[in-house]
Amino acid sequence: MTAPATPTAPITQDMMTIPRKPREGLPNLVGLTRPALREALLAAGTPEKQVKMRVNQLWQWIYHWGVRSFEEMTNLAKPYRELLAANFVIELPEIVSRQVSTDGTRKYLVRIAGGHEVETVYIPEDERGTLCISSQVGCTLTCSFCHTGTQKLVRNLTPGEIIGQVMIVRDDLAEWPRPGVPKEERRLLSNIVLMGMGEPLYNFEGVRDAMQIAMDGEGIALSRRRITLSTSGVVPEIARTAEEIGCMLAVSFHATTDEVRDKLVPINKKWNIEKLLEALRAYPRLSNSERITFEYVMLKGVNDSDEDAHRLVKLIEGIPAKINLIPFNEWPGSPYERSSNNRIRAFADIIYKAGYASPIRTPRGEDIMAACGQLKSATERQRKSRAQIAAEVQG
Ligand code: SAH
Ligand code: SF4
Repeated sequence: MTAPATPTAPITQDMMTIPRKPREGLPNLVGLTRPALREALLAAGTPEKQVKMRVNQLWQWIYHWGVRSFEEMTNLAKPYRELLAANFVIELPEIVSRQVSTDGTRKYLVRIAGGHEVETVYIPEDERGTLCISSQVGCTLTCSFCHTGTQKLVRNLTPGEIIGQVMIVRDDLAEWPRPGVPKEERRLLSNIVLMGMGEPLYNFEGVRDAMQIAMDGEGIALSRRRITLSTSGVVPEIARTAEEIGCMLAVSFHATTDEVRDKLVPINKKWNIEKLLEALRAYPRLSNSERITFEYVMLKGVNDSDEDAHRLVKLIEGIPAKINLIPFNEWPGSPYERSSNNRIRAFADIIYKAGYASPIRTPRGEDIMAACGQLKSATERQRKSRAQIAAEVQG
């Protein structure tokens, strides 16, 4: 088990409360897809023959320039700006706190409507920067190794709250383009992974609409290949993900027998390994994506034997795949231990020799509990009981 990195610099935490008080009851434009934005503008009195142009203008202000007030939308006539301001808000979730790890990872505590909180993690790397976003407050599923799984589902995030996480982090990184300033080649926020709190495929529409906004070429303009959705295995939604989002897919595989997977990823009792693999075989073809990432958390003595590695290779035969080995990240009260480095390397080696890339994921932001599976909003009172978690582990 790897000890958390010894801090070489103090962890920093700062509080930023950005006052973005919405005008009571007015609909928010952030999170509306283009067709929905069009409908909203028409309903507010935009003439039919102008509406296409208005959608384009607003889209660029909000998602290309990152503008938050109608006042600043200088190519709109004043009366139209006033009409917009009387009918709509441009509202984002609020960053309550930001912690910066000694390795540069930033963890944001984000407050959404109703006072609920989710976590968003920014992971800077040499050539890119990945934002790990949440799709739900809590999770209905109860994967026994996952901290989020100990928290009940409070609610799904809206598309505005999902894309809002990308926008507030772009604010924090000062990454919106500025008129007259040449665009930086390298993006600070270049990739999105739906690997934060929640099961994205149990909030399909919310995630789809938000990702369509992220991919739109007139705005944030991230390629679908730079977006990875991770699912625990909601089989009926996998084909839809290919067809309606088309992003890259990662699947929380984590075990090579139904017996073990039932315990680790209980959704397996509903859709077992065979059914999951069947859906995955069709995915790359449907979405035109390259490879599926199989995520595999390394748990000492549970799923990390040589036999497991051999079985895994056999199971995924014929699927264009890469296997991402995730050293287990502990959390207070977690019922497992991380496999030793030697065990993880031996496991990786078997997979690699079978012809698959088998990167070992470096835990990031462990000192601030920002690593995979450690997210959980401390403020949420609704918890699953310890007895419930223990019963699920023992199965
Ligand atoms: N709900 C989705 C996405 C969120 S979890 C899913 O389950 O796929 C993102 C990844 O982190 C998943 O592969 C998940 O299984 C893994 N994970 C969860 N808890 C972990 C932990 N404590 N240590 C390491 N990985 C963990
Ligand atoms: Fe939910 Fe994913 Fe955690 Fe499982 S691993 S409890 S699906 S967030």
